[in-house]
Amino acid sequence: EEQYLVAEQKTKELEKAKEELEDYSEQLQKSSQYKTNFLANMSHELRTPLNSILILSQLLAENENQTLNDDEEGYAKVIHTSGTDLLKLIDDILDLSKIEAGKVVLTIDEVNLTEIPEMMKLTFNPVAEKKELAFIVDMADNLPDVWYTDGQRLQQILKNLLSNAFKFTEKGSVHLQIERAGDETLAISVTDTGIGIPMDKQKLIFEAFQQVDGNTNRLYGGTGLGLSITSEFVKLLGGYIKLNSSVGRGSCFTIYLPELSQERLDTIQLAMQE
Ligand code: ADP
Repeated sequence: EEQYLVAEQKTKELEKAKEELEDYSEQLQKSSQYKTNFLANMSHELRTPLNSILILSQLLAENENQTLNDDEEGYAKVIHTSGTDLLKLIDDILDLSKIEAGKVVLTIDEVNLTEIPEMMKLTFNPVAEKKELAFIVDMADNLPDVWYTDGQRLQQILKNLLSNAFKFTEKGSVHLQIERAGDETLAISVTDTGIGIPMDKQKLIFEAFQQVDGNTNRLYGGTGLGLSITSEFVKLLGGYIKLNSSVGRGSCFTIYLPELSQERLDTIQLAMQE
């Protein structure tokens, strides 16, 4: 009899704990929803004034009528680059919060692979020239003309990897290579001859806000968000990322991407939700 009462008491306690846990998890979900909405609204509100700052500072920096002296033209340029950095930060934070909330919507496009080198050269040739680095783009000749994936995200992934490569390299080259890895997989690698990443940090840097040098007075700017967004996007696209790096010699990031159909994308997304 007594044992029975104890058991009954325990069951009641367990049920209560379960209810509390459910309440708590509901609250957690709600607050995470608030956070996402808040960030989405904030970044929209920040973007509108920032766009005016960007457009107008660019106009000033062009100084077409020579109304500004050299110093003033320089200030306008600084306003414009700082504004661009801020916009990138806002976009990154928004992306990350969407990823966390499972709210990234992918769109499968016919990506014309031959256009990638041109696009990347357009963006990165100026940096390469400024830092006197060679920017080499190699496309294997057995690539299909079109590849089905989310073209927008693929561009974002490549831009993140390439901007890191240029940022952390002072001498030598940055190499973008696109080749086939089997029938259904594309291997895209970004190799640099930069500072390299110590072995014990090679996992960590894929986490949000993590940097090899995290000091506030560090040499390189940045937020530590780029690689975590990149690796989440690669996962969402059904692929994976590999890193080979050695300090003082350079780094090579390779992403492996499957060709996507709508059904395959649905399966990946379902698997990621579980
Ligand atoms: P951020 O570049 O804004 O700091 P990332 O998430 O893109 O953020 O990168 C995280 C960290 O990984 C960088 O701060 C840097 O320490 C390291 N890292 C990334 N790419 C490279 C690279 N190509 N060479 C050397 N270090 C790198």
